[in-house]
Amino acid sequence: MSNNTLSRRDFLQVTTGAGAFASLVPAVARHDIQPAPSQPSTDGWFDTPMRWVQLTLVENDPGTFEPQFWLDYFRRLHADAATLSAGGIVAYYPTDVPLHHRSAWLGTTDPFGALVSGCRSMGMRVVARTDPHAAREDVRAAHPDWIARASDGEMRRHWANPDLWVTCALGPYNFDFMDRVHREIVEKYKVDGIFSNRWAPQGGDCYCANCQTNFKDATGLDLPRSNDRRDPARRAYVAWRKTRLTELWKKWDATVRAANPEARFIPNGPPDLKTAGELAAIQFTDNQARRGVTPPWANGRRAKEYRSVMGRRPIGGIFSVGLEEAYRWKDSVQSEPEIRLWVAEGTANGMRPWVTKFSGVLYDRRWLPVVERIYDWHYAHERYLRNEAPLARVALLHSEQTAAEHAGMAPGDRHEDHMLGMYHSLVESRVPFELVHEAFLTPDRLDRFKLLILADAAALSDAQCGAIRDYVNRGGSLLATFATSLFDEGGRRRENFGLADLFGVSFAGRVDGPMQNSYLSLDPEAATGRHHAVLAGLDDTPRIINGVFRLDVRPALEFPSPVTLIPTYPDLPMEDVYPRVTHTTTRELYLRELGRSRIAYIPWDIDRTLWDVMCVDHLRLLQNTIAWTANEPSPAVVEGPGIIDVTVWRQRDSMTVHLVNLTNPMMMKGPLRETIPIGPQRVSVRLPEGARPKKVQLLTAGKAVDYRMLGTVCTLTVPSVEVHEVVAIDL
Ligand SMILES: [Zn+2]
Repeated sequence: MSNNTLSRRDFLQVTTGAGAFASLVPAVARHDIQPAPSQPSTDGWFDTPMRWVQLTLVENDPGTFEPQFWLDYFRRLHADAATLSAGGIVAYYPTDVPLHHRSAWLGTTDPFGALVSGCRSMGMRVVARTDPHAAREDVRAAHPDWIARASDGEMRRHWANPDLWVTCALGPYNFDFMDRVHREIVEKYKVDGIFSNRWAPQGGDCYCANCQTNFKDATGLDLPRSNDRRDPARRAYVAWRKTRLTELWKKWDATVRAANPEARFIPNGPPDLKTAGELAAIQFTDNQARRGVTPPWANGRRAKEYRSVMGRRPIGGIFSVGLEEAYRWKDSVQSEPEIRLWVAEGTANGMRPWVTKFSGVLYDRRWLPVVERIYDWHYAHERYLRNEAPLARVALLHSEQTAAEHAGMAPGDRHEDHMLGMYHSLVESRVPFELVHEAFLTPDRLDRFKLLILADAAALSDAQCGAIRDYVNRGGSLLATFATSLFDEGGRRRENFGLADLFGVSFAGRVDGPMQNSYLSLDPEAATGRHHAVLAGLDDTPRIINGVFRLDVRPALEFPSPVTLIPTYPDLPMEDVYPRVTHTTTRELYLRELGRSRIAYIPWDIDRTLWDVMCVDHLRLLQNTIAWTANEPSPAVVEGPGIIDVTVWRQRDSMTVHLVNLTNPMMMKGPLRETIPIGPQRVSVRLPEGARPKKVQLLTAGKAVDYRMLGTVCTLTVPSVEVHEVVAIDL
């Protein structure tokens, strides 16, 4: 039995059913290092489609909506693949599976079949969508054992539509009934796959007789009654739930393949990313739009998370055209600039666009031409979007197990905030970067990067620490912050950092914070009287603000001391606000050179505080530390005004630099009102040794551009970026 658990945030997502698409990813821990999954298969149809569409029907669509309208629209979008509603809660075809509810408006029609053959006639691939999470009263009456039960034993009514019942995801409803539905759909229509929405437990844990028995048989325990992550039954449940979902994935996949060997089962949200890396030929990320305070790069981040396990295997980036707020105005339409930016972030980060619309009848049609323009652009430039590999040289560790297992060092400290701060700083610094996943820290995944960043990667197994140590021994550089490696993969505190030997410091046992009014002294080097390179641009001040939390650490070696602690002092009354200690020898930044590697360890929460207060001095210090540890020129340098997400890719005969313009007063909280073009950007791209450009063009501007070669560096100017510009270099 492994020690998995569900973080409170993820638990809430699962239990409220909100954002259910994203809700599955997290439930995991204990990722041992895996060999890279067999190199992304080029077998099958999965890599062919570049543009996806999804039409999710509502029950009264049959007889009302016009299939031909949608088929015409798909054609105008140059869509290669469609996901279409088939069955589950409502069947949109004449099903023969008992208790599979035919749409009350179906009559003798077959709208699913009509759409499938229409798509087929245009050469499109078709994946059938099912949704198993709810059922009607007749199903409950015939099969009470299929219905989920709350902890009090009562059957669970659907939270949004009380006429429906929530089904048990881990018992015979999914394993038997939905299995028959999936077999029927694939046998009848020979579709290319089944895509199931909300296929994991919805509305809370299920306490039905099947779940009780199956859990007891697997673990010897009763189902947990508390959400306490330290409760052994809770930990066992989280692991068991993941195991059951993985079994369900494999069972449905086998059924689908038996009916059509080319087809696959594709879950909407894998049990965790590691499992997706092991099982999936293709994945779709259901991150449809911004909600609340979400930066636009969140869509690019989701793409990077999936690619960290999927490698080159294709990923569809599902986007909606409406508002994604908690009130769920499902028939809403979003502003054009907002839709364009969200999709551009996905495309620039390697996802293929997938527009999702439900309801065949439209009330607000403003999105139709917007999506058409986006897809037109994509179609016109497809050969430059069929990426073979990212060329980033910096990687940030994505640690699912830290998110699941690590509660933080103190109230107010959350791992996710460290990640958000580090991610934002990399975007703002215009550093092309990738995410790597803790389960795949193999040389073939890691060695393409010069620098690995560990942003409070607190929970790491001994094997993962070993893999990182080997990477450094092979010449890789490291930048680590705060509690990195202070816990094992199950979130248990170590005596010392797992990577203490690389950091050159030991944990002294104390966490300080939240600290009020603490500072950092920026100290010149004794030998030269000058500042270290990591303080570039900070020469005009002897000190900057400190973070909010710090770990007390003890150096095991002699270190330079460019940054030292000025301890907290009163911030009130004003008469008392003066430093009691003006200088210490307590280093707050540890820099080492180890062979070809450079290592920086920052014992305070620079990333978390950056996300919290966005201090530009912290950004500069991080930028400089990233540059010092990377210790090589970036594959692409983009200079000019604004905030731009920069990604660099190689295709078969070309390379591309994507510039996504995030500069907007609504950057942190959408929706955007307008796009604000940003002025000239000077771009320097490092070409592969020996390569000469045959042609350099700007895809959005639609023209060739003058460039200069200096050694292997190609330099050019992009006059303006509205939302998304791509520098494409034919080699
Ligand atoms: Zn159950």
